[in-house]
Amino acid sequence: MKKFTKIMALALAVCLCMGLLAGCTGGKDTVEPTAPASNGGDDAAALKTVETGKLHMSTNAAFPPYEMLDDSGSPIGIDVEVAAAIAKKLGLELVVDDMGFDAALLAVQNGQSDIAMAGITVSEDRLAKMDFTDSYATGVQVVIVKEDSDVTMDNLGEKMIGTQLGTTGYIYASDTPENGGYGEDHVIGYETGAVAVQALINGQVDAVIIDNLPAQEYVKANAAAGLTILEGAWVEENYAIGLRKGNTELLNAVNGALNELKADGTFQNIVDKYITAD
Ligand code: GLN
Repeated sequence: MKKFTKIMALALAVCLCMGLLAGCTGGKDTVEPTAPASNGGDDAAALKTVETGKLHMSTNAAFPPYEMLDDSGSPIGIDVEVAAAIAKKLGLELVVDDMGFDAALLAVQNGQSDIAMAGITVSEDRLAKMDFTDSYATGVQVVIVKEDSDVTMDNLGEKMIGTQLGTTGYIYASDTPENGGYGEDHVIGYETGAVAVQALINGQVDAVIIDNLPAQEYVKANAAAGLTILEGAWVEENYAIGLRKGNTELLNAVNGALNELKADGTFQNIVDKYITAD
């Protein structure tokens, strides 16, 4: 796949930047990511957040199993529980603000939320606009089609592709053919992944490009529609928590808490709750 080389280069750049970011966290006034667990005491009191005593997380709760709404409309999912555990470590109360994916990224950039968690892929473009913690998960873009369709990885350029607006799936697919994309004329950006999948079911698009885990969830949830995921995928992406650029104190506190949750097994317990081998 010609797209591969370009994305590999991007992935490399992202890894490099993440390495730099990780390297920057050891400054003299900063909290090391591996610092001992904060008990929500003095450290937390000093943390400045959008709303005192609270940690606002902007997200798009239509990305299972990372974030979705339960039957009563409350946000649940891996990102939501990890954010709650981070907030607890920092002595803060988590507030989840559900909005569009693009809006969730903008909310941290504009200082309206403290962290953005939405299965957000770290990319070169995003690193120019926001800071990221260490990565906590990986994903790849895959293609969902109807079981009886003639769409393949090779003829996608002749088809209509649905994606979620502002996501890496949208960005890759709408890029020019010279850059390995299919061109904007072949891509429709929807407000959420769920709406994109509905458009596929309704026959408005021939395929949906979306991250692999939500893809599996959507295929499962729409069993009657006979959806399937094509063999083959783009390069692996890293998910991380996004923060306003330059907010080093909060970045280091959140990153430190995240790494503690990884080290003490809490993070894996949350993941295991939502991702079961079946
Ligand atoms: N990982 C993709 C991105 O960051 C999609 C995220 C999402 O749809 N919530 O663009």
